[in-house]
Amino acid sequence: MPASILVVEDEPAIQELIAINLEHAGHAVLRADNAEQAASLVREVLPDVVLLDWMLPGQSGIAFARRLREDDRTRDIPIIMLTARGTEADKVAGLESGADDYITKPFSPRELMARIKAVLRRRSPQLTDETVVIDGLKLDPVAHRISAGDTRLELGPTEFRLLHFLMTHPERVHSRTQLLDQVWGDHVFVEERTVDVHIRRLRLSLEVSGHDRLIQTVRGSGYRLAATA
Ligand code: CA
Repeated sequence: MPASILVVEDEPAIQELIAINLEHAGHAVLRADNAEQAASLVREVLPDVVLLDWMLPGQSGIAFARRLREDDRTRDIPIIMLTARGTEADKVAGLESGADDYITKPFSPRELMARIKAVLRRRSPQLTDETVVIDGLKLDPVAHRISAGDTRLELGPTEFRLLHFLMTHPERVHSRTQLLDQVWGDHVFVEERTVDVHIRRLRLSLEVSGHDRLIQTVRGSGYRLAATA
């Protein structure tokens, strides 16, 4: 499950070590030396995970984590704090600032990868390889296949990603902006209308088995996938 991962770390050697390991595992890495740089990267592309050093020049990692949590757009990004501190009080402060996990330096690349995988599974189920089934509609991300009983459904790549995201986050209303961030991965260069176009195509493809009824329009808010029709 390749993900885009933002590494915020001011020590060049550690930043490099982390980035190399992540890239080796197939992830796309964004790098920042401080919170301001990280904030401007996040404005352009929403990462799947943030690895955040606690002690940064300027704004601290803790303060930046709070900033991410206060913004609707970045609220749900998994954050793993990296720190040399290891006392109980520090861990509590880190988790209270909104971090999902905590890793104490020095750590092994293997431990880091395991933690990343765990937060991705927890927070972004659409990035995992598990098959999702809702109301008889089955999506297999590995085989890239969608079926309803014996019927194979044909979807374009964007509709596939859109359906995967909706099926792994059912019963929640997603705004067009959120869908652009989650499915297109970049909210800046795509118009919101694009979402409507792909939702229409998705419904059309699902009509074959009648599962288009699962995709609901929530007037003035966005779209939702109903867990049952
Ligand atoms: Ca540091």
